[in-house]
Amino acid sequence: MCLAWDFLLSKDRIWVAWFRNCYLKKASYWNVVVKGSSSAVWRSIVAVRDFIKSNYRFQIGNGQKTKVFLDPWCEGKFLSEIFNRRTLGCLSRDKNICMSAIITDGQWDEGILGNTTQDLMQAFKNLLMIAGEDQLQWHTPPFGFQKAWEAARVKNQEVTWATLCWNGGRPRWSVHAVLIMHRAVISHDFLQKRGFALASRCYLCYNEVENVDHLVCGCEYVWKVWSFLSHVCSWNLHRVFALADLLLQFDQSQRKDVKKIIPSLFYSYTIFYMVGEE
Ligand SMILES: [Zn+2]
Repeated sequence: MCLAWDFLLSKDRIWVAWFRNCYLKKASYWNVVVKGSSSAVWRSIVAVRDFIKSNYRFQIGNGQKTKVFLDPWCEGKFLSEIFNRRTLGCLSRDKNICMSAIITDGQWDEGILGNTTQDLMQAFKNLLMIAGEDQLQWHTPPFGFQKAWEAARVKNQEVTWATLCWNGGRPRWSVHAVLIMHRAVISHDFLQKRGFALASRCYLCYNEVENVDHLVCGCEYVWKVWSFLSHVCSWNLHRVFALADLLLQFDQSQRKDVKKIIPSLFYSYTIFYMVGEE
């Protein structure tokens, strides 16, 4: 996203000039086709162009950076997506024409726009005219990183344990809790799946194979902690052996105090286990 932004606005930089020369040549950023041999950086720059089209607005200054037909300045769309060829032909036959060609003394040239339809003329007049060079601007100013992040991030359906992990505890506790939920802690089964040849044995009880289910609730020593916790909190916790079953009990509990200490317990336990094993 940041690279794409720099690419569009910083035309004087060497890397931008190189990318333009290498990948665009005479094509437009907005509709160039990415080739199989293109670099990963160029792919990432092109991948966000639909997001930029729908979230940024063009501001026209001297009109030299904005192409009339090749830039999506009309509410995120190209003119060809809104008007037919006959209407656009009245404006110009040159596909590479810049906005500067229809700007005179900082204003739209009525002589040229007068040849077009009322709708097309209004589309130009809806653009914000500014002094200096053309600019891209966030669609609802002022721009904020939080706004951009919320608009850019992929929003999936919230998992049931999201509140459990991100409940206001220390961030590192929450991160460890999320890792456990994703079974991404470095347990023996985690290593075995990645090709490490090792004999698995729980460090705490020496009885069972070490995996997330066992580490979180299956191990008899870990369950003693849960039992103690449930006793202190006067909480009726049923014996379970799988993480999913434990989560179900957390989810069904209405006790906020119980839910609040679970991430810290995961964190403490993970550190204890890793240090102990080393
Ligand atoms: Zn064990």
